[in-house]
Amino acid sequence: MTGLTHLAVSAVIYRRGRLSPPLSFALGFVSHFFLDRLPHYDLNMAANMVIGLAGAWFIWHLTCRDRDYLLPFGALMGVLPDALVLWKVNPWFTSFHNFCHYHGTAATPWLLVVEILTVAGSFWLLSKPEKNGGRFATFS
Ligand SMILES: [Zn+2]
Repeated sequence: MTGLTHLAVSAVIYRRGRLSPPLSFALGFVSHFFLDRLPHYDLNMAANMVIGLAGAWFIWHLTCRDRDYLLPFGALMGVLPDALVLWKVNPWFTSFHNFCHYHGTAATPWLLVVEILTVAGSFWLLSKPEKNGGRFATFS
């Protein structure tokens, strides 16, 4: 699963879940393992970084537009598990992450279309102004 998909879904959990920030951060972190479990096509690190940075720019744009300074943390919680694996923080955690990861037959690149639609839908949800005050009415 691309880092961008993890980033986008975790940001939606934070922004639209109507949960406390700590709980939404935790759910964003946990969502990583469920998303990785789905059949998907893995991009190489360079492509992942390029599209991830583009997504991070969009998240930052929304952060500044809405003055929602917890949004980047909500988004980053979704990619944190991959970072912890990359940084070799804990062998047990790496084993757990790899256990949760999809191990089926070689996935077709066409599955990237599912991720593109997921990211597009997530960004659409994130960019919509919130009715009834949304998060900002509760936590500002
Ligand atoms: Zn992962």
